[in-house]
Amino acid sequence: MTAKIIDGNAVARHVRSEWKKRVETLKSRGVIPGLAVIIIGDNPASRVYVRNKVKACAEVGLQSEVHEFPANVAPEAVIRRIRELNQNSAIHGVLVQLPLPPHLEPRSLLGEIAVDKDVDGFHLYNVGGLVVGENNIFPPCTPYGVQCILEYEKIPVEGQNVVVVGASNIVGKPMALMLMAKEATVSICHIKTRDLAQYTILADILVVAAGCPNLITAPMVKRGAVVIDVGINRLPDGRLAGDVDFERVKEKAAYITPVPGGVGPMTVTMLICNTVAAAERKAAKNAGNKNPVTV
Ligand code: NAP
Repeated sequence: MTAKIIDGNAVARHVRSEWKKRVETLKSRGVIPGLAVIIIGDNPASRVYVRNKVKACAEVGLQSEVHEFPANVAPEAVIRRIRELNQNSAIHGVLVQLPLPPHLEPRSLLGEIAVDKDVDGFHLYNVGGLVVGENNIFPPCTPYGVQCILEYEKIPVEGQNVVVVGASNIVGKPMALMLMAKEATVSICHIKTRDLAQYTILADILVVAAGCPNLITAPMVKRGAVVIDVGINRLPDGRLAGDVDFERVKEKAAYITPVPGGVGPMTVTMLICNTVAAAERKAAKNAGNKNPVTV
């Protein structure tokens, strides 16, 4: 068996074109969705991510603005800016690009973002909403992108054995919650998991987000499994690789995502979706609609 290689760029193009129509509807009602990105310091990777977000906004018809601060900024200055953006009616989504310089505490800054503008989905309200299955939250962009890939490829989730390798707050844990909400049977593995393979071999759907190249080898994967590789690793020779031994696992799996070109393009796409959804909810609220659009 050779797996179908999922083209994340094609899925992202499809999703963006669907959401572009929603942006046009909003524009016809005088609303332009707006995203504000706060970047602190000069981490080169963060700068690339922010540039990609700005570019994606322009492509789908959103307005975006970047608020830059030096690495040694006082937390109060950032909090002041977040509060201003919370009050700004032209801005529907606010995010703080992570990671932060060590003197800044992410939880306290992220907690300042208004819940209805928290398009990264990192505010505790949105995290809690994910736990209890609340509809009107913003799902974190990377697991939301994986969910969207599964839907696009019409891969059933209900009743499937799902194994998520990686238990971070931004990828692994929300991924597990989102797939549980779709009635999968989910196991979460992490660095202390004993004998990782005994879990991965049972997975109908294997989602890997550990940040370890070649962590998942072919003998660890069930024949016919769906393998979603979230990992992004820079190899010593400069190439990018995921966490899965792509060349060998693709001979065994039914579906596999490549790195690059798999989950990556979906993350920024889902940020756009969340920002448009935020603008739609705000517009519905302003119009007194008691049934705002949900994602
Ligand atoms: P993270 O915060 O470092 O979390 C990594 C998780 O993997 C942790 O739960 C860790 O376990 C677990 N882990 C690490 N090594 C492991 C091993 N050998 N066996 C089993 N579990 C292991 O990273 P993250 O932010 O979730 O990101 C994970 C990967 O996804 C990274 O490569 C990152 O670059 C990539 N990523 C990609 C996108 C995208 O758009 N494609 C977006 C976000 C992240 P412990 O909890 O026990 O430490």
